[in-house]
Amino acid sequence: MNILGKSYVELLGLLNSKKISTKELHEYFSKREKKYNKELNVFLTLAENPGVEGEMPLAYKDNYNTEGIRTTASSKVLDSYISPYDATVVERLKKSKTYVFGKTNLDAWAHGASTETSDYGATKNPWDTSRVPGGSSGGSAAATASYLMPATIGSDTGGSIRCPASWCGVVGLKPTYGRVSRYGVIAMGSSFDCPGPLSWHVEDCALLLSHMAGFDPYDATTSSKPVPAYMEKLNAEKKLKIGIAESFFENVDKEVKKKIEEALEILRKMGHIEKKIKMLNPKHALSAYTILQRSEVSSNLGRYDGIRYGNDRSFFKEEAKKRIMLGTYTLSHGYYDQYYKKAQKVRALIIEDFKKAFDDVDIIIAPSTPSTAVKLGEFKKYPFFGEQMDILNEPANVSGIPSINIPVGLDSKRLPVGMQIMGRQFDEETILNVSYKFQRETNFFNMRETLLKKYHD
Ligand code: GLN
Repeated sequence: MNILGKSYVELLGLLNSKKISTKELHEYFSKREKKYNKELNVFLTLAENPGVEGEMPLAYKDNYNTEGIRTTASSKVLDSYISPYDATVVERLKKSKTYVFGKTNLDAWAHGASTETSDYGATKNPWDTSRVPGGSSGGSAAATASYLMPATIGSDTGGSIRCPASWCGVVGLKPTYGRVSRYGVIAMGSSFDCPGPLSWHVEDCALLLSHMAGFDPYDATTSSKPVPAYMEKLNAEKKLKIGIAESFFENVDKEVKKKIEEALEILRKMGHIEKKIKMLNPKHALSAYTILQRSEVSSNLGRYDGIRYGNDRSFFKEEAKKRIMLGTYTLSHGYYDQYYKKAQKVRALIIEDFKKAFDDVDIIIAPSTPSTAVKLGEFKKYPFFGEQMDILNEPANVSGIPSINIPVGLDSKRLPVGMQIMGRQFDEETILNVSYKFQRETNFFNMRETLLKKYHD
């Protein structure tokens, strides 16, 4: 059976009809791991136990607690930490007939946009191994792109699913804040963190989201809104009004802009209408995000005191230390009003800005990242690399709305360009629907086929 490139949904169908077995799938992906992981460095830990017959393999970003398996958040602070329980997402996906195949690399504590701040070495971009895969879910994105897994799970606090999805040329979905439980995902910025799926195929993200989403008594910020049948709505006929805001195209690389314009032309031909809208400049989201996220980081990382979870604080590296220090400052007496409180006010304005925009349009389209993948080491040149690369992603995190990255072609360096589709709160259905239709129309420009020639069996 030819497995290479088959979608998660397809493989699940073959598994359910017993045309393929879990054992075969496990052996297949273990073989690919042996062949390509050294070059790409996507897996930090492989689970010892292959799944029970009938289960699909899945890989998780290593900030998900997975019972009995090492969970490091890519920091040596947690080098020997074994999770005593499963995150809610892992538990739910296990109930939906999956098993943990392995854990993927990330920027330590999910701080960054390149996967280079990992204490276990950088992950490489499968399109060009002299470049970063983006981050912080870089391991999950690179594993998906190179088909070391048919689909993976990541987390998005300020772009960490969409940025690496964009730079690796795959689909990555950040759901609405509160749609998916954060319980058991190592906390970064608790008012931003969103677990979500990555894959080559939109239908895989739709299916995985329907299994992951929903109210969780262990996470008071989850919504009790019923979870729609995302898969069934993929084909629905919808003619949408697309909002385009100039402020999301400022300082964007020319080639990226061109690819987005070509994608918009395809969407227009498919019958959608475009409307120019005015929106706050994303630089305000960047500022609010930087202050609020660091404030939350300084509080969340306080628990790693060397008493409860493995190694002591001396194992924190530069990026985490910088974030803890800045966050402690913005929360401290005398500066709180000037920074934290002010940033919260800006956050309220950004939420309002999106609400107003969505009174008029159904979705908002923008580039996911201002450029295509940068070279390894580039991040050292920027004091706020993580934030700057994610400037276009952060507005969705600050306002809590859902957003998806889809691939829209290659630039002249043959690197993937990603397009971001933002939707109304809890309207994952619409952004999945339009992404699916776009995939059907374009087959994402055969990018998957191109890359699989390099990462063949
Ligand atoms: N790149 C952003 C940062 O460095 C977002 C990271 C994330 O979403 N986990 O904070």
